[in-house]
Amino acid sequence: MADIIKLLPDHVANQIAAGEVVQRPASVVKELLENAIDAGASTIMLIVRDGGKALIQVVDDGIGMSPTDARLSFERHATSKIQKAEDLFDLNTKGFRGEALASIAAIAHVEMQTKLQAEELGTVLKIEGSKIISQEVGATVTGTSMAVKNLFFNIPARRNFLKSNQVELRHITDEFHRVALAHPNIAFHFHNNGSEMFNLPKSNYRQRIVNIFGAKTNQKLVPVAEETQVVKISGFINKPEFAKKSRGEQFFFVNNRFIKSPYLHHAVVSAFEGVIKPDTYPGYFLYLDVNPASIDINIHPTKTEVKFDDEHTLYAILRSTVKHSLGQFNIVPALDFEQDQNLETPYAYKNKEAELPSVAVDSSFNPFQEKVATKGAASYQKGSKVSNQSWEGLYTGLESEIGKEVAFRSMQFESDTITGSVFDEEKESLNTSSTTFQLRRKYIVTTIKSGMIVIDQSRAHQRVLYEKFLKNITVKEAVSQQLLFPLSLSFSINDRAILEEIKESLNTIGFIFGAMGDETVEIKGVPVLVSESEVGMVLDQLISDYQMEVSGNSFSQTDIVAKTLAKTLSVKTGEILESTSQTALVNDLFACKEPLVSPFNKPVYITITENDIDRKFI
Ligand code: ADP
Ligand code: MG
Repeated sequence: MADIIKLLPDHVANQIAAGEVVQRPASVVKELLENAIDAGASTIMLIVRDGGKALIQVVDDGIGMSPTDARLSFERHATSKIQKAEDLFDLNTKGFRGEALASIAAIAHVEMQTKLQAEELGTVLKIEGSKIISQEVGATVTGTSMAVKNLFFNIPARRNFLKSNQVELRHITDEFHRVALAHPNIAFHFHNNGSEMFNLPKSNYRQRIVNIFGAKTNQKLVPVAEETQVVKISGFINKPEFAKKSRGEQFFFVNNRFIKSPYLHHAVVSAFEGVIKPDTYPGYFLYLDVNPASIDINIHPTKTEVKFDDEHTLYAILRSTVKHSLGQFNIVPALDFEQDQNLETPYAYKNKEAELPSVAVDSSFNPFQEKVATKGAASYQKGSKVSNQSWEGLYTGLESEIGKEVAFRSMQFESDTITGSVFDEEKESLNTSSTTFQLRRKYIVTTIKSGMIVIDQSRAHQRVLYEKFLKNITVKEAVSQQLLFPLSLSFSINDRAILEEIKESLNTIGFIFGAMGDETVEIKGVPVLVSESEVGMVLDQLISDYQMEVSGNSFSQTDIVAKTLAKTLSVKTGEILESTSQTALVNDLFACKEPLVSPFNKPVYITITENDIDRKFI
């Protein structure tokens, strides 16, 4: 029988390899940005059209290439970064496989312009599907420009598999964030379809984070720093109260390379245990520096996974470092998220001097309650102000943002002035003599003819607010409170896009938006139940819930909005309600259409009949 084994032609081999390296436009962006960084660039420009399907161009002012290198760089396994296998253990570059350019050139139209500093003229090279179309001498600037057009032009199946331009752009933006966060000492520009998305000047880590995610990010950041023989850790964690339901701003960088590590993620999350609500995730930007010889980044073709020599030690160090930061910056004493929300709840209940419930109950089983009980409501309010002050010291690293930040901060920390509440008026007419008492700052107990009912205060309030908001939305006559001075809030670009999507529903419940700038959104009016100081928090929650729910199966946008607002603004477990507030809540609950279940389908109250009680006494 004749021999049947053949060597694959290079262009076919390259196309196959490309499948590993280039999954989507964002992979090209990553490779090109990394090459620019390896080339020592101090300014990098990324230009994208149609979600990267039509064009991805990266322009750098790095070292450039000679005409020969320019040609060679597109060969498979052509790299200037390692010469021998041992070099792999001392990597200080992003690339080393010499595969990226060969792969990209196999599946796209590539145009490269490159020039060495010492040369007068540079090289202009065109390649389509691994075929060199032309190589010319040209007058170009020092550095390299790589334009990748018509990605997957010769693999229709892959091209059709790509998602919408919007989704691909989101992937590109994620990739861009990761690279830009790892290299604040490099200036980045990012243009999409002709308009500027990001302009990131050379800065420090903190400023880079803020420049990417918006001015309001600054107040969330808590510095982290630790240096041991195994690892140097620096960066920031977000304050616990900013933990989000959706995963998002979670970044690990190892030797300035973005990595994914579920194991290290767990270390951070476990340090936050008890400080954030279950099912929420802390944000973090953590930079680990380790000896390059102690890691293996070779295990994954796209190099976002790293194998550490001593993972267990790293886990322990990371966990305790994060814990330490939480403690050092006074986060742990204020760790009761319920309390924090307490302070921000605009609800009329809040405005009254908190009183201990008139019925003495043993609260010893609940550590959270004990803390409040010993300190008293008044003192925990004071305590929180003090910690706000100590936070101010942390803004100092951020000169250029200070102006914007001050405006936002004074808005955030403003005292909780109440701007009128529907509830207050209703309360006057209530029969306050009916018996209610609060049990363990969690339940309201009241008597009915046949016995008694035990109401979960938080769920009850959620139900009340939910129906109120739904009514606003359907009747379209939301009670909006015009702001004398419109608020200007900043949002990341992604968040702003989502805000734009849900704007209609927000209008119907009483938000009035003014101009929507690139990063800032002007707010001219807010629903009556939302106080000015919590607008930012409420909108953040809405954005993250919406992001989660659209992928889930919540049936309408208005429903998501009403639910989120109800959840965010409701009285929480652990809050003291004075007796008039208890009565008001009970009455409001039973004026609801569906008092039995919360908007999240949890039971709101239980009934214990006289019979039930009698039976216990048999
Ligand atoms: P790798 O980065 O793994 O070495 P690539 O295929 O990405 O492989 O690049 C091949 C080579 O081309 C690099 O090693 C580098 O020498 C050169 N090169 C690629 N991009 C640039 C650039 N922007 N500036 C200078 N040299 C570059
Ligand atoms: Mg590379």
